[in-house]
Amino acid sequence: MSSHISAEAARRRTFAVISHPDAGKSTITEALALHGRAISTAGAVHGKGDRKGVVSDWMSMEQDRGISITSAALQFEYRGCVVNLLDTPGHADFSEDTYRVLTAVDAAVMLLDAAKGLEPQTLKLFEVCRARRIPVITFVNKWDRPAKDALELIEEIETRIGIKPTPVTWPVGVGGEFRGVIERIGFGPWRDGRRETGPQVPGMVRYERSPGGERSAIAEQLGAEEAAAQFGAEYERAQEESELLSEVEADFDQKTFEAGQTTPTLFGAALVHFGVGQLLDLLVDIAPSPFSREDAKGEPRELETGFSGFVFKSQANMNASHRDQLAFIRVCSGRFERGMQVTQAQGGRTMSTKYAQTLFGSARDTVDEAWPGDIVGLVNATGLSVGDTIYQGKAVEYPPLPAFAPEHFGALQMHDTSKAKRFRRGIAQLDAEGVVQVLYSERRGEATPVLAAVGPLQFEVTTARLQAEFDVPATISNLPYQLARLTDAEGAARLRTAPGVEVFSRPRDGAFLVALPNKYRIQTIQNDYPGIVLEPLLAGG
Ligand code: GDP
Repeated sequence: MSSHISAEAARRRTFAVISHPDAGKSTITEALALHGRAISTAGAVHGKGDRKGVVSDWMSMEQDRGISITSAALQFEYRGCVVNLLDTPGHADFSEDTYRVLTAVDAAVMLLDAAKGLEPQTLKLFEVCRARRIPVITFVNKWDRPAKDALELIEEIETRIGIKPTPVTWPVGVGGEFRGVIERIGFGPWRDGRRETGPQVPGMVRYERSPGGERSAIAEQLGAEEAAAQFGAEYERAQEESELLSEVEADFDQKTFEAGQTTPTLFGAALVHFGVGQLLDLLVDIAPSPFSREDAKGEPRELETGFSGFVFKSQANMNASHRDQLAFIRVCSGRFERGMQVTQAQGGRTMSTKYAQTLFGSARDTVDEAWPGDIVGLVNATGLSVGDTIYQGKAVEYPPLPAFAPEHFGALQMHDTSKAKRFRRGIAQLDAEGVVQVLYSERRGEATPVLAAVGPLQFEVTTARLQAEFDVPATISNLPYQLARLTDAEGAARLRTAPGVEVFSRPRDGAFLVALPNKYRIQTIQNDYPGIVLEPLLAGG
């Protein structure tokens, strides 16, 4: 069994596609899924036109706004590997959810819009990846449209993010003249369905839209002479630029990629499937497979030790007719078997896993077994909160999920005091799901919690769900704070009466947060309260 676990883990690739909204995340997710033949028709994954397959249609607010709030995972086999593609919300307001998804992956694909380059959300996401040491593959999308200069784009990434791009493909032509790419590493032999990373193949891969468009592009290997004959100046320019990249040591390197110091970069156009096959091949070839995760004490749990996993997402009532509570588990070690009894590390409760599912789109399939890297949705998982560990056999507890820097604060007010109990239950539930961060201040007392969020739509989700699921009408009044810092108990006591700021306790992890109106106030606090602890939170803080 134990070597079986290692073998199954070794063929897993678990990753998420992340981007600033509109860069083409939904488009490439669908293209990857089609390429991996996970779904049979376009539109079944996302797509703003045809939303019937979207898993997150459970909330009418989402439908009204046409945005995707919730996440799940898509699984398919490709070249003997099992690919787990974790979905992330498209709207930047739900980036806290995206950050949490990143705790459950072994690699990320960063999508850039070729014309826009680095956008605000791209910067934050790169920062989260770097902080969590997640290897990143970069895909420069929409190369079939007018784009920034490729070399300038590479330089922009390196100087602004501090991660060196190592292009593995390089575009020949751009916009309407996008002909194909030079492959700067060997993607292996063509057309036999298997390609292994190996020495570089001279020439280029020519792309052509396939008739009918959607399913896949035609990609043809051209030898150097043929490429020069067909695309003369464009091909030569690409060649020269590619050589220039080698001179500045921007060549692929597995070790620095895994260490998060370099980012292998591809150019393509997801809409017409250019470069999507190479991306999938690259993931299979170079993305790390699941490895022994460190527990809260910093000790790695070997893959072959009994089953363990943690909740990276929890979600109630995804479907009005089901009214259930789903906890999404990332399997970290061992073999998961449906029906097995597991222990919840936080609290020591044992629970059954009779109802285990994989989820993506509208399909819910029962999952009977899962291996490290896989995502399992546990139904009726009340009592499991985001960040909780479950295991069988030798006890383990994974580190708590990080809470991300809130940028919006609001006081939550309930209007019907006879519903106080339900109100408290609702707040606890939404806090456990990580919908929003719940804080309390001495000033306001228990009856008026303060909500903190990365994006303001999280507030709307909170009040909409309090109303719909707990029958508690509540309103939120915005507070004039824009950022937060962590402090200790002493700092909390000292700042209790400081003007213009507010000290909160966060029951979720027992932390003390200082909410501030702007970053200048940090400086004046530090001057007025020498030695005060004020630490930034992850991302955006
Ligand atoms: P998301 O918000 O990141 O999920 O972005 P979408 O996948 O919804 O794409 C945003 C828009 O860009 C849509 O109109 C897509 O059709 C378009 N788009 C996505 N990829 C490409 C591409 O490679 N080329 C072109 N020309 N358009 C694209």
